[in-house]
Amino acid sequence: MDSNRVNGPSYPLPRQTTRAVRVGPLTIGGGAPISVQAMTKTPTVDVEATVAQIHALEAAGCHLVRAAVPDAASARALAAIKARIRIPLVADIHFNYTFALLALDGGVDKLRLNPGNLKNPAHVRAVAAAATARGVPIRIGMNNGSIPAALRARFPFTPAGNAQALVEGALAHIRLLEALDFTDIIVSLKASDVITTVLAYRLMAAARDYPLHVGVTEAGPPPEGLIKSAAGIGQLLGEGLGDTLRVSLTADPVEEVDAGWHLLRALELREGGITLTACPTCARCDVNLDPIAHAVKARLRALDHRLRAAGRSLRVAVMGCEVNGPGEARDADLGIAGAIGEGVLFRQGQSLGRVPEADLVDTLVREVEALAQREGGPVDARLPGGSGS
Ligand code: SF4
Repeated sequence: MDSNRVNGPSYPLPRQTTRAVRVGPLTIGGGAPISVQAMTKTPTVDVEATVAQIHALEAAGCHLVRAAVPDAASARALAAIKARIRIPLVADIHFNYTFALLALDGGVDKLRLNPGNLKNPAHVRAVAAAATARGVPIRIGMNNGSIPAALRARFPFTPAGNAQALVEGALAHIRLLEALDFTDIIVSLKASDVITTVLAYRLMAAARDYPLHVGVTEAGPPPEGLIKSAAGIGQLLGEGLGDTLRVSLTADPVEEVDAGWHLLRALELREGGITLTACPTCARCDVNLDPIAHAVKARLRALDHRLRAAGRSLRVAVMGCEVNGPGEARDADLGIAGAIGEGVLFRQGQSLGRVPEADLVDTLVREVEALAQREGGPVDARLPGGSGS
C-alpha cells in the first residue's frame, strides 16, 4: 500500500499499488485515475439503440462501457457499435468462445470472460492468443450468484465463506490465463451484499496485484442501490482498493455514471463537475428551498456532465437561511443564502446583492454558466476526460 494520491486535491486516500492494464486509450490500475463504467441495457443487436445509449453515457462522463453478448448476432453487432462510439467498448461473454473471437474481430477493447467457463483448453488458448495479438485485456468477473455448487460447498455459507469462494473461483480462472502467459487481467468479485463484496476484494488484493473493478452487484433501484453501492465501493476506496468502478442500478445507466462520479468526487479521488451543497431545510428556512434546489440541480445537469469531461470543478450552494447560509454560500463558487422572500447571491466569496425568490433559480443558473465560461473558456462537449493515459 502506498500513498500515491492520484488526483484528490486535499484528501490523501491511500491507493493499493496495482499493475497498469491498457483498455484502448484508457489505463486501469497502476495509479491511473479511477475510471467510471456502465453497462448498456439495450439489446446489443439493436445497434441504433445501443449507440444512442452509449452516446448518452459518453456525455455523462462514462470512461468505458460494457455490452452483453448473448449470441452470435450480438457479437457481430459490436463492430458497428465500436465504429460509432468514442469510449472503450467491453464485450461481456459467458460460455461461447466464438463470441469472444467475433468480438475481438469487431475491435472491442476488453473482454469480460471467465476462461474456466469455456471448458475446452483449446478454446481458452484461442481466445488468449487472439486477445494477446490485439493487446486486449480480459476481466475475470466472479459473481456471488453464479459460484459453481462444488466450489460453494467447500466454504461455509457466510459472508466470509462466500468471499473465499469468490476469490478461489477467480484465482482458478486467473491461473488458466497465467499458464498461457496472459497477464493483462482485471478482476471483479461481486456480491449483492456489501460485507461479502468488501471481504472478497480484500482477499484478492492480498493475493494478486491485478487492477480491481469494484462494485456491489444487483444493488437494486435507487435509493437502495445507491446506498449499498456507496457503502461497499466507498469502503473499498477508503481502503485504497479499486481501479475502476461500476455502480449497478436498476435504472437508466446514466444514473450509474452520475453515481460513480458523485462517489469519486465525495472522496476527492476525481475532479470535474458540479458539487451541489444544499441545506436540508428546517423551521428557519426563509424560502421554499426544496423546489429551488431541485430546479438548480436539474438545470445544471448538462453543465455538470460537460465539466466532468473537461476535468473542471465548480461548487454551488443553495442554502435556506441567514444562519448557516452565508458561510456555505460564500465558500462555494456560487451560492445563495435564503432571506425572507429573497436570497443573497454570492460569487467566490463576494455578495452580489439580493435577488427576489422568484428569480433565484434563473439568476443562480445564469451566474454558474457565466462563471464556467469565464473561468475556463467554452465548456463544450469534449471527450469524457481524465483517462490517465
Ligand atoms: S441553512 Fe438554515 S434553513 Fe437550512 S437547515 Fe441550516 S439552519 Fe435550517
